[in-house]
Amino acid sequence: MSRLRSLAIFLLLSLSSSTSSGCKKKTTDDVPSSGLNLFSLEDDLKLGSQVAAEIDSKPNDYPLLDSATYPQAYAHLYRMRNALLTTGKIQYADKFPWRIRIIRDDNTLNAFCAPGGYIYVYTGLIKYLRTEAQLIGVLGHEMAHADRRHTTQLLTQAYGVQTLLSLLTGGDNQDLISQIAANLILLSFSRDHERDADAHSVIYLCPTEYRADGAADFFEYILQGGGTRPPAFLSTHPDPGERVQNIRTRAQNMGCAGTQIYEERYAQLVAALP
Ligand SMILES: [Zn+2]
Repeated sequence: MSRLRSLAIFLLLSLSSSTSSGCKKKTTDDVPSSGLNLFSLEDDLKLGSQVAAEIDSKPNDYPLLDSATYPQAYAHLYRMRNALLTTGKIQYADKFPWRIRIIRDDNTLNAFCAPGGYIYVYTGLIKYLRTEAQLIGVLGHEMAHADRRHTTQLLTQAYGVQTLLSLLTGGDNQDLISQIAANLILLSFSRDHERDADAHSVIYLCPTEYRADGAADFFEYILQGGGTRPPAFLSTHPDPGERVQNIRTRAQNMGCAGTQIYEERYAQLVAALP
């Protein structure tokens, strides 16, 4: 397994959770606070562009679907992404590129978003799901990991304040970023970050015409064994049932009015893939 494939899997574990809990401070959204982050926004962007450049340069590991050859498939994803970016709920909607790339791999049920807003979606995930509400729920969750700057918070924890401060004040930031990019695979999102990303998926979707709890639709669909095979990542990570309930409750409490799932239009997206 290549390092970058591991990285993708790590970044996807966004769909799951693992260890370590960050500091728990209530916010107005009643979800964990941002936590300590010694990275600047520019560092997030730089780190993300480095990860993206590495992925883009490894077509054997990451066969990207050419947007010029498959404009219809990309148009569907751009439309869904833009529905979230125009809600006013994404803090760095105008500061991050929110670039989308489709990875042609039907066997991988995965999506991830690198720091700074570099979104990757596998054809395997798109073909597995059945509605736009499911996929936009996942997109909201992944975009939240970048917008809420979870990865660089985690790196701050992992490296320790003193180490990072000495590196950050040492002048050569490029070395720091390179070193960190190489170590991303050692990290995985905390439970708090997963809850935060689930919550923000609802917050982002709430002003749209979509069902705001699309992420819960996604979890329920895979829990019910939708499609042809159970995704491996679900069996290794705890309690998606609780996440479904939390997502549904939040959407209800927020009074989100959107009802659309766009099943037929989703079928057109799937049909536009190779
Ligand atoms: Zn996640």
